[in-house]
Amino acid sequence: MSISTMPRPISNELVILRLLNARMELSEHDKWNYARLEKGFDGELKFDQLTDVLVNNGIVIKGLLLEVNDIEFQIDTTIIFQGIIYLFDVKNYENDYYYENGKLYSKNGNIVTDPLLQLERCESLFLRLLKDLGFDIRVVCRLVFINPEFTLMQAPRDSPIVYPSQVKRLMKQLNEFPSKLTKRHEDLARKLISLHKPVSSNMKLPAYGYEQLEKRIMCKLCYSRSTIVQHNFIVCGTCGHRELVDYAVVRSVRELLVLFPGIRITTNLVYEWCGIVESKKMIGRILKEHYKAIGYGQWTYYIPK
Ligand SMILES: [Zn+2]
Repeated sequence: MSISTMPRPISNELVILRLLNARMELSEHDKWNYARLEKGFDGELKFDQLTDVLVNNGIVIKGLLLEVNDIEFQIDTTIIFQGIIYLFDVKNYENDYYYENGKLYSKNGNIVTDPLLQLERCESLFLRLLKDLGFDIRVVCRLVFINPEFTLMQAPRDSPIVYPSQVKRLMKQLNEFPSKLTKRHEDLARKLISLHKPVSSNMKLPAYGYEQLEKRIMCKLCYSRSTIVQHNFIVCGTCGHRELVDYAVVRSVRELLVLFPGIRITTNLVYEWCGIVESKKMIGRILKEHYKAIGYGQWTYYIPK
């Protein structure tokens, strides 16, 4: 798989919030943060649909979380061309926004974090990183508003904004960009990907503990808890999705490890966590098949193979 067709990584924060939202009652603020992340991710996927069909010779890197001098920054999409690197910040904002006296407001008059300032910060950190890595390539940043229902008024005229009505034209421009890549460009792309941080140090998560979470295999697709076991399948009462029990149990173990890194995976724990699989023996068999057993008898626990 070439770098450009790799799927966009989902941030750990979003993965955890999806799991928590399905297993506990989030506070209003956490619900708001969760919805904001889902919406942002959705916008990034929409942008991917456009960059995925670029036929030009550029390397597209989706979703980088980088760090320079202990300062974390993220780039939604990076495209490396021969003599230029494009950094895109994609926003899925909806409705009306306006600039006034150098500040950004939503239509109800609330001040919003200015994505243009974030973009400037991202650019300077990225330039510093490039320099540290020994690369000297021109960098251009663009703030892309992807949602067709978005309007921005009184934006600074020469700002690097791409409006919904301009996105198509942007893709056309990118496609026509003359670019001949060398091994050095590929080296840079691989280097950037190797520096990607899988877990952000700035996650905004509610406090949660094992005891307070609902224990049940959730639907893989819609995260519903209305699931039942039918023969060898977990069947969702909300969306009808069917998943083999074996896969669903392995997925549930992965969820446990995401929510509680380092937790000791035992048959009893997974049996309790899954909730609806009646046979403990079956859980034990699935764990044995998919994980490496450590220890003996009642003290057995499992680690990834
Ligand atoms: Zn479902």
